[in-house]
Amino acid sequence: MVTRCPLIIGNWKMHCTRAETEHLLSAVLAQLSLPPEREVAVAPPFTALETAARLLAGSAIRLAAQNLHWEPQGAFTGEISGPMLKELGCTYVIIGHSERRQYCGETDAQIARKVRAAQRAGLVPVICVGETLEEREQGATLAVIRRQVRGALQDQAPLAIASLVIAYEPVWAIGTGRTATPSQAQAVHEAIRNLLAELSNSETANTTRILYGGSVKPDNIDSLMAEADIDGALVGGASLQADSFVRIATFR
Ligand code: PEP
Repeated sequence: MVTRCPLIIGNWKMHCTRAETEHLLSAVLAQLSLPPEREVAVAPPFTALETAARLLAGSAIRLAAQNLHWEPQGAFTGEISGPMLKELGCTYVIIGHSERRQYCGETDAQIARKVRAAQRAGLVPVICVGETLEEREQGATLAVIRRQVRGALQDQAPLAIASLVIAYEPVWAIGTGRTATPSQAQAVHEAIRNLLAELSNSETANTTRILYGGSVKPDNIDSLMAEADIDGALVGGASLQADSFVRIATFR
């Protein structure tokens, strides 16, 4: 039987100055006693990555970034590259979050380039996919997810697929307080795993971690994590409070 190490990532979005980062991470570090075989990461804004790296040094909590550019350097004003994030100590990088698809017009083709850039820089891509409410109501959920996963994984070898992370985040559940039920989430996670097997092989598909994101809270994490294909969570709002993030990270 394949075991996938559960992974909980806090996506802070555009929250926390460096002073607020010190405050939040000090509280998380004081409260968190991580069970074995579990990974936890936080994704502060770029401006707080160095502060977070200093505070997390020597702890089990890993650092993630929220985005990167597909080129390693160049004339791309306002952008941040994979090697820059690697140098700061990032392990993970979130790619294709629905807020970036919606507000910054990110396309599947750009996301595929970012995935390859992350891998070249030695970062683990956390690729976000998810349908809107309208798409769900039209019965298009799986078609949308298949298009987004296929788009992001263009030209990926099986070995590379095994080491990346997919985050299923239904857009209608992000920041709305409306969570997918564990069985709704499980159905999509299973479909993603089947698609990964089509794109690589079943051994690879059984190794790839698939996280759920969308209003994950202390009171729903345990039931979500009980599902067979849910390997962790990408947590937005609830990662900004130390006690709720610690409770989620120590799910039972
Ligand atoms: C997210 O932005 O990735 C997210 C899941 O947000 P929230 O937990 O606030 O719904």
